[in-house]
Amino acid sequence: MWIHFLVFIVTFCFMEFMAWFSHKYIMHGFLWSLHADHHKKDHDSWFERNDAFFIFYAVVSIGCFLLWQKNILEIGLAIGLGIFAYGLAYFLVHDIFIHQRFKLFRNANNRYAKAVRRAHKMHHKHIGKEDGECFGMLIVPLKYFKK
Ligand SMILES: [Zn+2]
Ligand SMILES: [Zn+2]
Repeated sequence: MWIHFLVFIVTFCFMEFMAWFSHKYIMHGFLWSLHADHHKKDHDSWFERNDAFFIFYAVVSIGCFLLWQKNILEIGLAIGLGIFAYGLAYFLVHDIFIHQRFKLFRNANNRYAKAVRRAHKMHHKHIGKEDGECFGMLIVPLKYFKK
C-alpha cells in the first residue's frame, strides 16, 4: 500500500517539474498563442485561453484514473490522484491566491505565501514571450524569501 503513497508523492513533485518545463518551453514556446492572454488579457471573459493547459492535465489525470478503473494499470490511481492534487494546489496558489480569480486568501502573509507571490509577480513583469523568469510555481527560489 505504501508504494501507492510513494508514487502519489513522487507524481506530485514530478508535476512541479512538468509545470516548470511546459511553462518555459511549451507555453513560452510553440503554444504561446494559448498562454499569451495570461500575460496580457485581451478579452473580458473570466476564462483564459491559458486554461487549456489545465484541461490538458485534467484529461491526463482522468486517463490514469480510467486505466486503474479498467484494471489496466494498478498504479494509475496513485498517478492520477498525484496529478489531480498538484492541479488543485496550482489552482489554489496561482489562480486564487496570486491572481485572485476568486476573492479568497487575500490576506495570507506567511513567509511562503509572500515569496511564492513575489516570485510569480516577477514572471508577470515580462509581458512578452521571451526573457521570462520564475517559470515554476510551488518551488520558490531562495532569494524571494529574503526581507
Ligand atoms: Zn508565462
Ligand atoms: Zn500567473
